[in-house]
Amino acid sequence: MRAEVITIGDELLSGSAKFLDTNSVYIAQALHRVGVDVLYRTTVGDHEGRIVEVLRIAAARVNLIVTTGGLGPTVDDRTRQAVAAATGRALVFHQALLDQIAARFKRFGVRMSENNRQQAYLPEGAIPIENPVGTAPCFIVEDGDNVIVSLPGVPSEMTYLMTHTVMPYLIDRFALSGVIKTRILRTAGMGESQLDALIGDLMKLDNPIVGVAAHPGQTDIRVTATAASEAEADALIASVEQTIRERVARYIFGVEDDTLEDVLIDGLRRRGLAVATVEAGTGRALAALLGSLNGVSAVVCAADAYDSTPALCAILERGGAPDDLEALARHAADWVRRGHGAAIGLAVVSTPDDAEDAPGGVGGTAIAAVADWGVRVRRYGFGGHQGNAPDWVPTHALAMAWHLLMDKDAAP
Ligand code: AMP
Ligand code: MG
Repeated sequence: MRAEVITIGDELLSGSAKFLDTNSVYIAQALHRVGVDVLYRTTVGDHEGRIVEVLRIAAARVNLIVTTGGLGPTVDDRTRQAVAAATGRALVFHQALLDQIAARFKRFGVRMSENNRQQAYLPEGAIPIENPVGTAPCFIVEDGDNVIVSLPGVPSEMTYLMTHTVMPYLIDRFALSGVIKTRILRTAGMGESQLDALIGDLMKLDNPIVGVAAHPGQTDIRVTATAASEAEADALIASVEQTIRERVARYIFGVEDDTLEDVLIDGLRRRGLAVATVEAGTGRALAALLGSLNGVSAVVCAADAYDSTPALCAILERGGAPDDLEALARHAADWVRRGHGAAIGLAVVSTPDDAEDAPGGVGGTAIAAVADWGVRVRRYGFGGHQGNAPDWVPTHALAMAWHLLMDKDAAP
């Protein structure tokens, strides 16, 4: 398989050290790894006629052409038109692509300009490549024996799309020798920005690439390697995984499809321990999650759930509204663990922002985990939206119980 990389942009021809063509280096390396021979690297300015010219020359001497740049919304972005012209195709409007672009602008609260409509046009018969990390839709044109892949110029978007879409497509389409493997490390108890500070440098690697995906209360670290063989991919992943573990080991609760609830329950079982839970004001979110686990009732007493913190206070014979949610959570956790003879008591208490009995009119959520060997307790703001508590509470609570269980192993 013979390939040519064509990078497009006036700035790349300016000679300025600010605009080095790093894209073609990355793409050449990625293609070499799966056994594709890169025979030519060409750079051309933002000029439709000249882009068509280099595309025609490339089409006559290689089978695979990868372009970057020129897919933006402005008049000097001519790659779409040039690929259409070089392959004798019309440009066709795709409503679905415009919808994706509009949705992305909306998510970032920015007004979409009329120019962006241009980006929803692709050469007729092109395979669209969704771009979840930018606005420019990209595409693949299969033209006789030739394949043209057109990617954005922004390096972070280009590398993301190469790894997640283009390489899997090429490996499949041309039965290449390469493999792409992803390993997922699951973390809890640490936010995306905290993770960024600890492993941000690894996110700049080319291979494997490291990315994070945040969910409520939990963040996944994804390590994806492209290599000539499974063993080589495994080795690339293993070395980066080791570095990640050296830095954030205590937050990693599992890998791949592991869930926090499974890991916690498994950890308790193996130690012959149990957790008992109580919650108030969370819409029974935690009990619902644990109650769905069949056959674990011997281990988990996901028992007591109350509608509000005053209701819980009444049960605990404390009377009135809580003025200190953390103290209440801690007390409730201790109470439920004693009541059920469980090693760990886990309590969540939540007061909505608009509750009359919210201390100082401000709502809040506190979670506590209590055992013989230690206590963990924390208050959560949920960005000032206590209404989000039911979504976030189960993960935070399970993570806290799991960390308390790990504390037992660490205890002298
Ligand atoms: P474009 O997709 O043409 O709008 O390019 C967007 C930005 O990506 C440019 O302003 C450059 O900063 C960067 N860029 C474009 N082509 C390359 C390249 N070949 N290597 C590195 N950066 C590039
Ligand atoms: Mg450009």
